[in-house]
Amino acid sequence: MTDTASGPLTADSIAGAAYIVAALLFILSLAGLSKHEKARAGVIYGITGMVIALAATIWLTLQDAWGTGHALTGLGLLVAAVAVGGAIGLWRARVVEMTGMPELIALLHSFVGLAAVLVGWNGHLEAPALSADLMAIHHAEVFIGVFIGAVTFTGSIVAFLKLSARMKSSPLMLPGKNGINIGALAAFIALTVWYVNDSQLWLLIVVTILALGLGWHLVASIGGGDMPVVVSMLNSYSGWAAAAAGFLLNNDLLIITGALVGSSGAYLSYIMCKAMNRSFISVIAGGFGIAAPASKGDTDHGEHREITAEATAEMLINASSVVITPGYGMAVAQAQYPVAELAHQLREKGVNVRFGIHPVAGRLPGHMNVLLAEAKVPYDIVLEMDEINDDLGDTSVVLVIGANDTVNPAAAEDPGSPIAGMPVLKVWEAENVVVFKRSMAAGYAGVQNPLFYRDNSQMLFGDAKTRVEEILRAF
Ligand code: NDP
Repeated sequence: MTDTASGPLTADSIAGAAYIVAALLFILSLAGLSKHEKARAGVIYGITGMVIALAATIWLTLQDAWGTGHALTGLGLLVAAVAVGGAIGLWRARVVEMTGMPELIALLHSFVGLAAVLVGWNGHLEAPALSADLMAIHHAEVFIGVFIGAVTFTGSIVAFLKLSARMKSSPLMLPGKNGINIGALAAFIALTVWYVNDSQLWLLIVVTILALGLGWHLVASIGGGDMPVVVSMLNSYSGWAAAAAGFLLNNDLLIITGALVGSSGAYLSYIMCKAMNRSFISVIAGGFGIAAPASKGDTDHGEHREITAEATAEMLINASSVVITPGYGMAVAQAQYPVAELAHQLREKGVNVRFGIHPVAGRLPGHMNVLLAEAKVPYDIVLEMDEINDDLGDTSVVLVIGANDTVNPAAAEDPGSPIAGMPVLKVWEAENVVVFKRSMAAGYAGVQNPLFYRDNSQMLFGDAKTRVEEILRAF
């Protein structure tokens, strides 16, 4: 930052104070978002922090531009950029379906990556006049910023393509894939040393291409079941990319915010890896050390049985306890409102109703919790997988509403399955299971589900919302 005003209150010090307030609001926002009850306040803190940060940055930029006589051009460019970006953001946020959120987030991460690459390139083309030592640091910032940004950019694009089903969710298994990743990392380290000593443009071009390829390969190598970790990992990368840009732009707030996003995203990835029994290092290293699955789970499991909405209604009325395990299909069908009504009516009839939520159900961390909160399901009957799993054996009826991978017994029983080892909701231990889905198709990980063929399972085919409404009418 440049000192542009005289006296004790400089432009820098005012903007610095505003940045500290904004940074504190971002921390409060993250803290708020970690609890259902405080999530709304968390969003408001975040918005307020961002408004203060933007206002301070615009004001500081104008102060700088005033001295050079370019204030109007600077203001014009800023207003145009904020107006265009804000309008597109507002439009997308208003039209996006809840089920389209994951791919939208992946796309937004790619923008952060691209911005970091552009800032890095600008740092090379418009290098400031610095002493030799500081110049070496500047070059390291440029090179590392471009590398992280480019990995985030293509990695997020592949995540976007996989999440929006424009690309197959199965892992890309190139021969020697671990060697490719390690080789790319070693080449990056060697090129960084070279560039810091001799900042030639072609080195920057090479590292950009290398990182674009590495980002693509890292995420393409990860299978559907591990995509939740990839989304939070890319969130983390986008934070580090923003922090790298902050160093180059000499913007303290960008450094702090980037580090907050980077570290919280890394911690979320770690928690999700633990929840899914995956090695954190394997996933962030593009499936390092994970062998190709031995089976696709497409064995012949025999015949499945079907049930009607009316018969399901009767079974539910006679049940003493019911557990509902929602999944991505509930989000697609927008079935949360009739499901909430179903839970409400059963509770009024004296049935013990609870929800069991798998940590990666849906397509976003917390996806099911958000939908159920939207439909006003009381928080105290919404339990995490670990809290409900031991009770499933004593449950009269489990309703599997549009869930598939998260209730797949193959994860627990077939060591060769692509989702082997992933903890799942043990719904098959209940007395009766009713599975709401439209066909016998596999879930997101592409693995067939033996649950559908169990003696205590029955399929209720059709759109989940329509079927739940039929059950409500049958009551
Ligand atoms: P799945 O994606 O495994 O399965 C969803 C099921 O819903 C499908 O089998 C589909 O079957 C059914 N379905 C779709 N539309 C409807 C509808 N209108 N009515 C009724 N059923 C419908 O769901 P899960 O939630 O169990 O698992 C989530 C998967 O997504 C996991 O593999 C997870 O790793 C992955 N993932 C999770 C992320 C996260 O952060 N939570 C992020 C990225 C990936 P049919 O077509 O026959 O109806």
